[in-house]
Amino acid sequence: MTGRQRACLAEALCAGYGLLDRGAASLDAVEAAIRLLEASGLFNAGVGARLQLDGTRRMDASIMEGAGLKAGAVAGIEQVRHPISAARLVMERTDHVLLVGAPATDFAKHFQLARQARPTPEQRRALRADIRRIGKQTGAAGTVRLFKALARNRKPGLETVGAVALDRAGTVAAGASTGGIALMLPGRVGDTPLIGCGCYADDGAGAVSMTGIGEGIIRLAMAKAITDRLASGKPPADSVRHVLRQLGSRIRGQAGALVLAPDGRFAIRHNTPHMMAGSWDGRGKPTVRDRFP
Ligand code: ASP
Repeated sequence: MTGRQRACLAEALCAGYGLLDRGAASLDAVEAAIRLLEASGLFNAGVGARLQLDGTRRMDASIMEGAGLKAGAVAGIEQVRHPISAARLVMERTDHVLLVGAPATDFAKHFQLARQARPTPEQRRALRADIRRIGKQTGAAGTVRLFKALARNRKPGLETVGAVALDRAGTVAAGASTGGIALMLPGRVGDTPLIGCGCYADDGAGAVSMTGIGEGIIRLAMAKAITDRLASGKPPADSVRHVLRQLGSRIRGQAGALVLAPDGRFAIRHNTPHMMAGSWDGRGKPTVRDRFP
């Protein structure tokens, strides 16, 4: 973790907690923290989001609150600086939960959400280097070779951003925003915009935000699996450890989770080598680390 990333995470924690301290809803705290991370360009979300293999940046985000189980999400959205705010608009201004692709982008434009700058030369260079590494592939046989090369070359990317929060009214909220994983086929969508996979919030159980390789997270519906364990009375650390163990043993997946119970107990756990994350309850200074037990 770089010093700038550490400072940005601490700033996001302070922004979110500051809102909660002034009596704001957990949903506001989650959105504010994620917007800050999206705007930083230091993580794989918003300004810093990865490019898909065709050079286009398609982003995913979701947000959910635990009182009324309201949720909103966008997938494959383009040219939007804050996909998390688009997700919240889906939740609050439509009867739907998930909008995808060009219509999701149009929806964000309709609400005049801030536009995203084009990918930087540095981002384009990084993609070209990735493509050189797997080699240019053409034709049907090329597609098969491409799939094999992608699977071999992909390393877990853990810089997706997410947040969970608990407000004074006892309502929990969770959100997540991502540019996806390295070397994605155009159109690929991961766990992040899928409610119950990338995020979940229920006042009767808790709030969860996931990061990691979405293909594994989806297959275990991890955010819901963890909240179900919370609902059955298991502590946050046990709940997440159990589901991470399943992910590792059943499908050799890699992930990390932020988990918050409605009584304020929380856990951050991962089965990846690192996970940059932190927490703050207003006492002392925010804790930010890149490894959790
Ligand atoms: N979960 C995200 C995805 O699969 C990526 C990540 O968390 O780094 O799209």
